[in-house]
Amino acid sequence: MSDQNRTEINKLGEFGLIDKIAEKFSKQNNSTHYAIGDDAAVIDVGDHFQLVSTDMLLEGVHFDLSYFPLHHLGFKSVAVNVSDIAAMNGIAEQITVSLALSNRFSLEAIDAFYEGVKAACDAYKVDLVGGDTTASPSGLMISVTAIGRVDKDKIAYRSGAKVNDIVCVTGDLGGAYMGLQVLEREKQVFLANPEMQPQLDNYQYIVGRQLKPEARMDLVHELLDLKIVPTSMIDISDGLASELHHLAKNSDVGINIHEDKLPYASNMQETAIEFKLDPNTAILNGGEDYELLFTISQDDFEKVKKHPDIHFIGYVNEKSSGLNMVTAKGNPIPLKAQGWDHFS
Ligand code: ADP
Ligand code: MG
Repeated sequence: MSDQNRTEINKLGEFGLIDKIAEKFSKQNNSTHYAIGDDAAVIDVGDHFQLVSTDMLLEGVHFDLSYFPLHHLGFKSVAVNVSDIAAMNGIAEQITVSLALSNRFSLEAIDAFYEGVKAACDAYKVDLVGGDTTASPSGLMISVTAIGRVDKDKIAYRSGAKVNDIVCVTGDLGGAYMGLQVLEREKQVFLANPEMQPQLDNYQYIVGRQLKPEARMDLVHELLDLKIVPTSMIDISDGLASELHHLAKNSDVGINIHEDKLPYASNMQETAIEFKLDPNTAILNGGEDYELLFTISQDDFEKVKKHPDIHFIGYVNEKSSGLNMVTAKGNPIPLKAQGWDHFS
């Protein structure tokens, strides 16, 4: 191919590239119920749906081992995949874990990684059922696949949000991003002066959000108990704004969220201010909190209105009204999707 025909991948972006790949393939099996485009693929196995999701974590791109303890990395690798199963309102049951590693890693290091994997398997009640192990010229690569299940009438896609539905989010947002800023700063301080010890005492909550994210499988179980099926759902891996765009686009609706309803932790807000960052930037575009963003029908509101960890941040509107954040003063401002773009 000549250079004139070369298209830079960063022109397409991550989602443009995935669309290009998806275009090439058509379904060959009836059991393939829903393929590319949601948090997990949906396979019709008869009386229920099987869910499959896979994610890759690369040293230098997704984690930095100078401040990411290997046992936390093992836990996080599982949690982020279980989170994608949760985002379909499903229950994860199995995982496979594949590793490419260089000779820089000792048995003790790999042991520490698998201690974390095991802790996550216990926390989410999933079984490690396979994987692959190979050499890497440098660095560590981790690929995890999660397999789950969901009753056919309980599945939540990104595409089911309806006008007047209530937009909900679990937990608090922006913490993982601010935790990363703290870890990066302490790394720079350490590189400049190796005598310096990292100062993390004031940032324990947000650093924990970065190093020890939890998949919200607990919420999936609670929704089951409450007999609520979200009309749409996605997990927040790239940032609230980006995930809202996915819900709005896939559901063909508009969404208004309210600035004063967005949940955050005081430790996140204080740290953002210290870093001279607008806390809203971390909340909207930070990512990696792995909370769940979902919509429910107004009829279900009574059942969850007192839930301490579900926040009602806005409403679904007609598509023509777009995606907006209504500021504390009542002005709607269009929300751009500035999630993480690994190719820019
Ligand atoms: P998430 O952030 O929930 O993990 P992604 O944005 O990574 O989701 O992926 C969105 C969708 O695109 C998923 O259905 C995923 O399986 C699919 N996808 C991503 N990369 C590829 C690829 N290289 N080939 C096929 N499908 C892909
Ligand atoms: Mg996801």
